[in-house]
Amino acid sequence: MSPTLRTTDATPHSLVPLVRHCPLCQCAMGYSLVRIEFEPAVDDLLPNDFSVVLCAHCQFCFDDISVSQPLIDQYYQGLEKYAHAQTGGSGGSEPIDLKRWERITSLLSPYLKPSSRILDLGSGKGGLLRTLRQLGYPHVVAVEPSASCRAVLAQQDIPAYADMEDALAHGEQFDCILCCQVLEHIYDLAGFMQKMKSLCRPGALLYADVPDASCYVLNSVAAYYYFDREHINHFTQASLQRLCAIPQSAWSLLSFAHYEETAIAEGKKNHGLSILCSAAPLLSPATHADDPDAGSLIDYCQHSSQADDYSALSDIRAEAVFLWGLGYYVRRLLRKGVFKHLPVKGIIDRDKGDQGRTFAGLPIYSQTFLSTYPQSQSCVIITSVLYADAIRHSLLSSGYTGAILDITKGSVHHA
Ligand SMILES: [Zn+2]
Repeated sequence: MSPTLRTTDATPHSLVPLVRHCPLCQCAMGYSLVRIEFEPAVDDLLPNDFSVVLCAHCQFCFDDISVSQPLIDQYYQGLEKYAHAQTGGSGGSEPIDLKRWERITSLLSPYLKPSSRILDLGSGKGGLLRTLRQLGYPHVVAVEPSASCRAVLAQQDIPAYADMEDALAHGEQFDCILCCQVLEHIYDLAGFMQKMKSLCRPGALLYADVPDASCYVLNSVAAYYYFDREHINHFTQASLQRLCAIPQSAWSLLSFAHYEETAIAEGKKNHGLSILCSAAPLLSPATHADDPDAGSLIDYCQHSSQADDYSALSDIRAEAVFLWGLGYYVRRLLRKGVFKHLPVKGIIDRDKGDQGRTFAGLPIYSQTFLSTYPQSQSCVIITSVLYADAIRHSLLSSGYTGAILDITKGSVHHA
C-alpha cells in the first residue's frame, strides 16, 4: 500500500488510520476520498462528520464513521419515515415497489416450495412478504426494527421480530432469507452475515440487493448526494461478492445480477446489485484481487467536487430568501456556510412534524408562509434533490412571483 492513492483525479488521496476498520477485511488503513460534514440537528443520534474511504487492502468503499452497531440500531428503531404510507421503496405497494417484488420473486420462485419458511430482514411495511403470500408461500416472517412498521405488519398478520436476536431466541429457522436494501446500512457486516447464517436451515437461500456504488457517477444528481450517513457501505460487484465470502460465514454464490429500475423521482434510474447465495459450505475459498470498480468511486468524488460550486448564489438580490427542502444535501451546505451572505429567513418543508420547529436557528414553515412576504423581493432556493421539479411546479401553480433557484442546477430564474 502506498502513502497516497494515485489517480487521474488531481487531488492525491492520502493513506490514513481508520476509526472504523474495513468491515470486509478488518484492515486498519484506508485512503480518504472526502470528508463529509452535516449541520447538526437537535436530536441527532449519529455523528455529523465522517470520511468516505477506500480500504487500503481490499479497496472496499465505506464511511469511516465513529459509531457502533447498537447506536445505529437505536437510530433505525426511532426512525418513523419508513412507516409512512407514501414512502416508496420501504416495503410498500407503489407501482415501483410492485415491479421490484416481481423481479425478486421471479428470481426466487424456482428455489421455493409452498412449505418454505421465508424471512424478510428490514421488511418495512411488508410489501415483499405480502406478494410472496399471494404467490402461494404462506410461511412469511419479518424482522423490522421500526415499531411503527411492525404495527403495520401486525395488521396484516405478518409475524415480526424487532431484530435477529429476538428471532433466534424464539428458535426460528428459515429456508430463505431476504435482505433488500439493508446491507448498505449495516456497521458490523461480519456480525450481520453470521447472524443471518445462524437463522438458516441447511442449504437455505439468501437473496440480497444493494445500490450499485459504481453507478453513483452515472446517476449523479447533486454533489456528494450518495454520501448521506445512512448508506455507510458503498458496494460494487467485487465487494458484494467478497462480503458473501468472508471466512466466518461464507455463502456459496448461485447467481449475481445488475438491475436497473425507475427511481421514485423525476426520471432518474436506480442501479442495483443483487446476489442469490446458498448457505451450503463454500466450494472454493475466495481469492483476493483488485476491485475493478473502485476507480468509479474516485471519479464520483471528483465529479462531486466540481459540482460543489454555489457561485450562482451571488446573483440573488432578494431581501428574503427561503430554503425549500431539509435533507442531508442542504444540511451539508448549511454546515459549509454557502448561504451565510444571504438574508435567509427560514426553511420551507412539507413535513408537518417539522413545521413550527427550527433548524440551524432557522424557523421551519409551510409553503403558505411565503405569501406573507412581498414576493417580488423574495427568492426560494430549492434545496431538495429528488423533488425539485415538483417544488417548482407547486410554487408556480400557487402563483408565486419571486425568484426561484434550483441549487442543484445552478442558475436563478424568475417566475
Ligand atoms: Zn478491506
